[in-house]
Amino acid sequence: MDCIVCKGELIKKEINHIVDIEGQIIIIKNVPAEVCKQCGESFFENQVALRLEQIVEEIRSNKAEITIVNYYDKVA
Ligand SMILES: [Zn+2]
Repeated sequence: MDCIVCKGELIKKEINHIVDIEGQIIIIKNVPAEVCKQCGESFFENQVALRLEQIVEEIRSNKAEITIVNYYDKVA
């Protein structure tokens, strides 16, 4: 698979995914992604993207200002 932005090469990497929704900041660490070597854009597999959405929904209901979680703690 190539980067859809610049057609650069994608490499598998674990990244920190940061979400900022209405002042609530959620940091999910060690998310498996494919990152473009050229432009730095990151992509998630469908399964990972879906899980991230669920994690964000779950955390949003806590109403905490900042939450930091580890992806692998949430998928285990
Ligand atoms: Zn790219």
